[in-house]
Amino acid sequence: MLGLMMDAPLLITDLIRHADRHHGETEIVSKTVEGGIHRYNYRAAHKRARRLANALAALGVKPSDRVATLAWNGYRHFEVYYAVAGSGAVIHTINPRLFPDQIVYIANHAEDKYVFFDLTFLPLVEKLAPQLKTVKGFVLMTDAAHMPKQSSIQNLLCYETLLEAQDDEFDWPSLDERTAACLCYTSGTTGNPKGVLYAHRSTMLHAYAAALPDALNLSARDVVLPVVPMFHVNAWGLPYSCALTGTKLVFPGPHLDGKSLHELFETERVTMSAGVPTVWLGLLNYMKESKLKFSTLKGVVIGGSACPPAMLRAFQEDYGVNVLHAWGMTEMSPLGTVCTFKEKHLALDKEARYAVQAKQGRAIFGVDMRIVGEDGKELPMDGKAFGDLQVRGPWVITRYFKDEGGDPLMDGWFPTGDVATLDPDGYMQITDRSKDVIKSGGEWISSIDLENVAVAHPAIAEAAVIGVKHPKWDERPIVVAVKKPGQEVTKEDLLKFFEGKIAKWWMPDDVVFVAELPHTATGKLSKLTIRQQLKDYKLPAA
Ligand code: AMP
Repeated sequence: MLGLMMDAPLLITDLIRHADRHHGETEIVSKTVEGGIHRYNYRAAHKRARRLANALAALGVKPSDRVATLAWNGYRHFEVYYAVAGSGAVIHTINPRLFPDQIVYIANHAEDKYVFFDLTFLPLVEKLAPQLKTVKGFVLMTDAAHMPKQSSIQNLLCYETLLEAQDDEFDWPSLDERTAACLCYTSGTTGNPKGVLYAHRSTMLHAYAAALPDALNLSARDVVLPVVPMFHVNAWGLPYSCALTGTKLVFPGPHLDGKSLHELFETERVTMSAGVPTVWLGLLNYMKESKLKFSTLKGVVIGGSACPPAMLRAFQEDYGVNVLHAWGMTEMSPLGTVCTFKEKHLALDKEARYAVQAKQGRAIFGVDMRIVGEDGKELPMDGKAFGDLQVRGPWVITRYFKDEGGDPLMDGWFPTGDVATLDPDGYMQITDRSKDVIKSGGEWISSIDLENVAVAHPAIAEAAVIGVKHPKWDERPIVVAVKKPGQEVTKEDLLKFFEGKIAKWWMPDDVVFVAELPHTATGKLSKLTIRQQLKDYKLPAA
């Protein structure tokens, strides 16, 4: 017997409809790229998203077409999120911090039809446009007054002019809830960046789960400022979850320094924020130097990299702000775990509570996780055994876009590339990473790409690149290299050899020459052993 309830598909469109109807007056505030503050509400945002949907139709955007963005967190980007996915097309958020060649690769791989971009990125888009083979037009997300007088971009359109030409009325199509909605590429694996294609349904389920009290704890009484970019796994889903809960949103635009953030926290009475540790370090340093406090901030979500214990203490003890340590990945939309206490932890002493908070947290409902040994067998949840962390659930990837890299699953589980322990209470703690990448300031650096450059140097026989702990960037790459017999090369020569071949911020911080490198039984470089051998290594002072 089937239930007798309505069969409503889970569609992103319903989030903005709900926010308009039930939280229409709730504000969305943005610090703009052009300068100054823009202020409107969910009702006005929905209206403009409908205008934009009409504009997209007029531009010939069809269901499943990919529409790319190169944009900061702001109200226009928010409108593009809803208009594109609501029309049945796919919003492809590109990370503008990637190396230009990678942006070209990603846009061509995604076969983007249009690129919406902020003024900041005009020089970048001018440079890349001739190489973007599938793009029919470029929309500058600004008004007519800020359009450049001249540009090498052939088909350059103005966002506000497009919207002005359109009507407010638009009937959002009723889509199959499994329709693709958003596309994010991740470099967090080996080889070329791969696309992760979210559906309306997966995004909606994730939005529900993220709002829960033991997840991001969102409500209609909160004011949320996502520092995490909308080009990083949809700002961890906040533009969706906040519409679901009717939460005021504050977008910082490109202004991510400590002073700008603190000002915005205070003027907009922000209660909750989210970002990677590097951003918080900048803010905390500024607050300390300027002897400032927060008057409304209650909580920060820290994820993307491990939250350093000193940061946890500084937020909680110096500023009375609760830290939610969270873990996730692009392949998981991204939320997997959030660290909140159970009732039994409340009576623990301070240090014991910090030990719990240092962990990445418990799985939120919708994400199942386990750790496995080398033989693929599940390991016990005893807080000691560590193994490869695997996940499954309705907002976890099944395959990458265009089947890149083949079937990633193992027995129906997605291997995360993280090595972790799980304790009897279900708290997960990351102990290492098995994937060959380095995370610096929340962004990936491919160790393999750097190794390929190093071994291309005529005097280098073999090279490994590993991540070393860094107080600001979390990790920085260093090269551990073996010289060819009879060849000479200095550290400076080798570093110079990288120039122009990689993004500037990928530049290794140091070179360590060794007589030989350790290998595994299958002949691969043993990064685990190299990391152990260099455990007392310290980066040179900057
Ligand atoms: P991304 O796909 O760029 O979001 O990166 C996901 C990866 O970042 C994870 O697989 C982890 O390696 C790392 N990561 C994310 N959050 C944390 C955290 N709280 N602690 C340690 N590593 C993390």
